[in-house]
Amino acid sequence: RAKEQGGGTFAHFDPTMRHQAVARLRLEADLVTALRRDELQLFYQPIMALGERRLMGFEGLVRWIHPKEGVIPPSQFIEQAEESSLILDIGAHLFNQACAQAARWRRLLGDGAPTISVNLSARQFADPALIRLIDSAMASHKVPGKALKLEVTETSILAHADLVLNQIHAIRERGLAVVIDDFGTGYSSFSHLLQFPIDGLKIDRRFVAQIGQDRRSTAIVDAMITLARSLELNLVAEGIETPEVANYLTAHGCWGGQGYLFDRPLSAEAAMQRLELALPEPEPLGKAAQ
Ligand code: C2E
Ligand code: MG
Ligand code: MG
Ligand code: MG
Repeated sequence: RAKEQGGGTFAHFDPTMRHQAVARLRLEADLVTALRRDELQLFYQPIMALGERRLMGFEGLVRWIHPKEGVIPPSQFIEQAEESSLILDIGAHLFNQACAQAARWRRLLGDGAPTISVNLSARQFADPALIRLIDSAMASHKVPGKALKLEVTETSILAHADLVLNQIHAIRERGLAVVIDDFGTGYSSFSHLLQFPIDGLKIDRRFVAQIGQDRRSTAIVDAMITLARSLELNLVAEGIETPEVANYLTAHGCWGGQGYLFDRPLSAEAAMQRLELALPEPEPLGKAAQ
């Protein structure tokens, strides 16, 4: 139609569409540069066992440390990256980064080191090369599967259901746990979901934030706790911001939690310091002599 009108390819684009297309190309080019310059960094948010209030693991959450713009959150670039195969390069880079970090912590802490949970996009999860990527990253950093967990959304599972079942089997054979992120917010049916041999669920922040405020959200959280317990799935509530919410979840038998009440996502160095704080106190030297 643009030709009929005698214009160029962009003739039927209105200025905002054209602007958006240009902005997108620019973002993609900038992300390629960011990857090359190692500006995409995982931050680590502690995941606590609610009963003992003990640090069990970290969720890796990407930030773009931009030399001019400062710290850019994933909401500003992950979705766009998912529209192209760029997300596969980013995902591979971040999975390797997580393995390198897990290896560092394991050198210091051995088997007691915290696990690292890595978020996977739908496209990564459906990528047949995923298993090779996992194998090579784990081998080059000498990290066992039990040091890692993968977080996927229910929507990304159902979008590629047949493919994904094999992927889940292959991932779990390697010892990595698979957990469903943002549980209850995507499109899913229980019967469909239960065909997938998963290890755990994460309750989305929008339910958690409403605990004790909104009767319906609280009922949904109660139901998820019951479901997880009877299916023997690990359960982590995300977005815990108040002691009241933490206490409610603990009292109702939710195993794990993460949120600003405990910690924000921390840089790798800050996470290391946080870990040192969480280590058991050394035997006080010379106490007997006092
Ligand atoms: P998500 O995986 O559900 O991560 C939880 C989000 O909640 C994170 O936002 C985290 O910083 C935030 N959060 C944690 N505790 C609290 C709290 O107490 N209060 C509030 N208000 N927020 C809290 P973030 O880091 O901005 O990440 C947003 C989303 O971006 C993630 O949601 C995930 O879907 C995606 N994402 C992050 N990192 C990666 C990555 O490495 N790869 C992929 N594919 N996606 C990622
Ligand atoms: Mg997540
Ligand atoms: Mg989540
Ligand atoms: Mg979420």
